[in-house]
Amino acid sequence: MTLKILAVVSEIYPLVKTGGLADVAGALPGALVAEDVAVTTLVPGYPAVMAALKKPEVVHSFAGLFGHDARLLKAQAKGLDLLVLDAPHLYNRPGNPYVDANGKDWIDNPLRFAALSRVAAELGQGLVPKLTPDVIHAHDWQTGLVAAYLRYSDRQAVPTVMTVHNMAFQGQYGRDLLPALGLPARAYAIDGVEYYGTIGFLKAGLQLSDRVTTVSPTYAAEIRTPEGGMGMDGLLRSRGAAVSGILNGIDTGVWNPATDPMIAAPYDVAHVSARAANKKALQQKLGLDVDPNALVFGVVSRLSWQKGLDLLLERLPSLVAGGGQLALLGSGEPGLANGFAGATVVHGGKVGMVNGYDEALAHLIQAGSDVILVPSRFEPCGLTQLCALRYGALPLVARVGGLADTVIDANEVALAAGVGTGLQFSPVSGDALEGALLRTFDLWRDRPSWKKLQKNAMKTDVSWTRPAAAYARLYRDLASGRAG
Ligand code: ADP
Repeated sequence: MTLKILAVVSEIYPLVKTGGLADVAGALPGALVAEDVAVTTLVPGYPAVMAALKKPEVVHSFAGLFGHDARLLKAQAKGLDLLVLDAPHLYNRPGNPYVDANGKDWIDNPLRFAALSRVAAELGQGLVPKLTPDVIHAHDWQTGLVAAYLRYSDRQAVPTVMTVHNMAFQGQYGRDLLPALGLPARAYAIDGVEYYGTIGFLKAGLQLSDRVTTVSPTYAAEIRTPEGGMGMDGLLRSRGAAVSGILNGIDTGVWNPATDPMIAAPYDVAHVSARAANKKALQQKLGLDVDPNALVFGVVSRLSWQKGLDLLLERLPSLVAGGGQLALLGSGEPGLANGFAGATVVHGGKVGMVNGYDEALAHLIQAGSDVILVPSRFEPCGLTQLCALRYGALPLVARVGGLADTVIDANEVALAAGVGTGLQFSPVSGDALEGALLRTFDLWRDRPSWKKLQKNAMKTDVSWTRPAAAYARLYRDLASGRAG
C-alpha cells in the first residue's frame, strides 16, 4: 500500500535554497516513488514559492494564524507535490528565507516557523482528512516544534521522524514566547521544549520525535559526543537506538556530466578525456593560467568557520608552490571572502575566486577541476564531494562526518586493491591539510593511478536509490508501530 508522508521544510530546491537542506527536500520525494512512498511537502509561501505554483487549490482557511488570516494551498511546482502555507504576514518577504536585506535574522522567525510546524501537526491530526499522512518527516530546527504541538495536544498523534541536517543551527528563543507559540506551560520542561533556560526548537524535535535521523552514520556517532553534539549529546545518547544516520544522495539528473547544460563539454566515464575542455573553460572563466598540467583544486562552499577554508587560505602558498591552482566559488563571511580576494592578487593566474552564489559556475567547477577540496571542521553529510565523485574530480576531504563515509582514501592498500575514490586527511589542521596537498601532487604525477581513481569515483553510486530505501524502511516501521 502506498505510504503517505508529509515532509515539512523551510527551503526546497529548486524554489528556495540556502544549502544542502533544500537539495535533500527537493530530491528525496522523487526517489521515494520507487519505494511506493508518496511525499507531499509543506513549505512556507515565500514569494518564490507562490510564483511557481501551478493551479493552487485552497484546502483550508485559517482565521487568525499567529495574528492574521492564512490559507493552505495544495499545488504542484517544478514536479513537486506541495502544500503551501500562504501567510503573507509571515512569509511575503523576498530573498533569503531567514534573514533581512542586512543579513539579520527576521525578528519573528520563531513565530514564522512555529506556524509552519503547527500546521504540519494539525495536518497530522486530520485538518484536511484526505491529506492526513501516515508519518510526518520534519527537517531541522525550523520544524522542531511539530513533535511538540503533537505531544501537547490531546488529539491523536501521527508518528514523527526528525532529520538534523546541521546541529549548529538550533533555534533558541526566550521562554516568554511560550504563550505566543500556543504551547501550554507544561511543555516548558526538561523532557519538553526547555533547553538551558530557553525554548529550543531543535531540542524539542530531538526530544519528542519518535525517531531522529541525521545525514550520515559518522555524524550520527559524532553528535553523541561532547565535541560534536553542540550541547545536545546527552539528550541524543539518552535516545539510544531512536537516533540513526542515513546518507544523503544527490539528484543524478541535475548532476549528470553527460547531459549537463551548464558545463562546456559533456563527458562520461568512458570519455573522461573530454573533461579537458571544461578545465580550460574554468581556467579562462576564473582568470587562471590556461594549463592542462596544472592541478586545479575546486571549492564550492559557504564561506564559514565550519568549512575550514581559513586553513586553506593559510596553506595557499604550498598549493601554489606545488604547481596547483585554486578555483573557488563561495559566499558568506566577509573576512574569508576578502582573504581569498587578496590571494587572487598575490597569486595572479594561480588563484581565482567568485564571491557569490552561482549554480552554473558550481557545475563548471565540478566538471573542470581535478580535485574538489572540502576541509570542513565538521560536515553532517556534505554534497559537493558527492557531486565531485560523479564528475570525476577527486574529493580531497577532512575525515569527519559524511565526508568520512563517502570517500575511500587512496592509501597504498586501497591503490593496490584498486578501490580508492579520493583522499582524506585528519586531524582538521593546517599541517594535515598541507600533508594531504603533497599527497595529492604525488598522485597527480602518477597519471595511470589518477585515472583509475577518477573512474572509481565516477562509478560510485551517489544517487538517492539506497538512501530512499532506508527512509522507506524507517517510515514503514513508524507507520506500523515497530519503531518509536
Ligand atoms: P551546506 O548545506 O553545509 O552548505 P552541503 O555540501 O551539504 O553544504 O550543500 C551545499 C550545496 O550548496 C551544494 O549543492 C553546493 O553545490 C551548493 N553551494 C554552496 N555554495 C554555493 C555557491 N556559492 N554557489 C552555488 N552553489 C553553492
